[in-house]
Amino acid sequence: MTEAQFAYSVVHRLRDAGYQALFAGGCVRDMLLGLEPHDFDVATDARPEEVQRLFRRTLAVGASFGVIEVLGPRGEDGKPLRVQVSTFRAEGPYSDGRHPDRVTFTTAEGDASRRDFTINGLFYDPIAAQVIDYVGGRKDLDERVLRAIGNPWERFAEDKLRMLRAIRFAARFDLTIEPNTFQAIREMAQQITVVSAERIAEELRRMLTDSHRARAIQLMWDSGLVHAILPELVPFKEAPWGSTGNVWDHVVRVLDRLRDPSFPLAFAALLHHLDGEAANSICRRLKLSNDERERIVWLIENHDYLCNAPRMRISQLKTVFAHPGIRELLDLHRADAEADGRSTEHVAFCERLLEQWSEAEINPPPLLSGSDLIRMGLKPGPLFRTLLERVREAQLEGEVKNADEARQLVQRLLSSEGLSGEPKT
Ligand code: ATP
Ligand code: MG
Repeated sequence: MTEAQFAYSVVHRLRDAGYQALFAGGCVRDMLLGLEPHDFDVATDARPEEVQRLFRRTLAVGASFGVIEVLGPRGEDGKPLRVQVSTFRAEGPYSDGRHPDRVTFTTAEGDASRRDFTINGLFYDPIAAQVIDYVGGRKDLDERVLRAIGNPWERFAEDKLRMLRAIRFAARFDLTIEPNTFQAIREMAQQITVVSAERIAEELRRMLTDSHRARAIQLMWDSGLVHAILPELVPFKEAPWGSTGNVWDHVVRVLDRLRDPSFPLAFAALLHHLDGEAANSICRRLKLSNDERERIVWLIENHDYLCNAPRMRISQLKTVFAHPGIRELLDLHRADAEADGRSTEHVAFCERLLEQWSEAEINPPPLLSGSDLIRMGLKPGPLFRTLLERVREAQLEGEVKNADEARQLVQRLLSSEGLSGEPKT
């Protein structure tokens, strides 16, 4: 059974029990756009407890908002199919600009009008094969317009996250934003900061991993949302790039050149003209995970590192090739070069070597460790690090091949280069 078939069966069961039941929101929009919905939502006049009574396996995911998840048979991936069943509801008032103070149960029409955009406010009756449209969403979809339901100033005042959602949907589905809807965002953009960092980051994540990321980020700029969320980028517009351009336009072109980037790669591309420290503090402000933050900062700090790859030492290449982010770093180099119409030969050069060299050649087990140096009679100290680094370098260059040769190198370094095993006084 597919998810669509399961959702259909859920609607059927509710209807047999005498309730209204319709597909709602994103799945209707996606079907009308000829896209495969990634999840199905059912809206009904049955109360949550009635939904729970009607189905054998349910989860009360948002019971207080009237949302029950109904579990079905296993899908293709072996996990149970899931459909969210929501009781028609109205929300409000919104005293904090983030969450409704309470919800009340209402009709299908009332439920449509609490939704954010007309294209997201459609219902579909899968049994009659009929679209039910209380908000003019169908026309807007046909004309490819993103429009707030009702008064956009009021709707964005209720929930400020909707401003980011507007940009995300407009970019993803190639829609023009209706002028009043856009004007409201421009006037209210600075208020986005009442929304939690996690929710803002989640919207950025979805925008930047979508193939329309360049348009999304340009709309973010035009609406004033970049100024509100990432003020560090504002100087990019005035910073010259090339003979006639500016850094902002360059960054947008780099984003456009990425193909299926991870979020850290796309975010690093957006921030790559900042220094590592500034990028680090942005990642902390947005409460990204440590892994993501470290990857983003590493990509930014190394975004130019491989431009001269054919003239770099083998040991330097192997060290960066051993980093788990190397593929993303090469993708960033390629996009960066393509954005400026530069050659990508340095990237191709690295990719050839990555093919050619085995894992063991790139990152072989070290020949010597600190305890080996102690066994050679050296006293632990700051010198250890230098010696081990020099040995590692020589190993990666192929100049020393085993522990014996590595020890001989240590002896040579100690005698000939004025490196002393004694602590400095
Ligand atoms: P996606 O494919 O990104 O999941 P979606 O339309 O399904 O798109 P969801 O965030 O899953 O978006 O929300 C489901 C539906 O709930 C939306 O289509 C919309 O009708 C409604 N909705 C979601 N978030 C809001 C919001 N902040 N304000 C008003 N309505 C919302
Ligand atoms: Mg959804």
